[in-house]
Amino acid sequence: MGLGSLFKRNKKEKKEEVVEDSHIDIITDECDGCEKCAIACPNNVLIIVDDVSTVRDAQVCKSCKVCTAICPNDCITVN
Ligand code: SF4
Ligand code: SF4
Repeated sequence: MGLGSLFKRNKKEKKEEVVEDSHIDIITDECDGCEKCAIACPNNVLIIVDDVSTVRDAQVCKSCKVCTAICPNDCITVN
């Protein structure tokens, strides 16, 4: 195994870590940027970027699920 394949493996592991880290999942294809979730979130976790809801800081999310309840398109999941 050369250095190149070692580097690729490390990169892949890092990507998987990031996915596991976030407990908020937004189906961006179904988001119409209505801002309801961002306005309703009591902890300012979500912001609208380019007309799509985006997680600003997952660490301050309290998993209250207000955002999932208010989204008209069911595009947010909080685990
Ligand atoms: S679960 Fe609650 S705190 Fe977390 S993003 Fe949704 S509204 Fe905000
Ligand atoms: S409430 Fe739903 S559709 Fe509206 S911005 Fe948030 S995620 Fe997108």
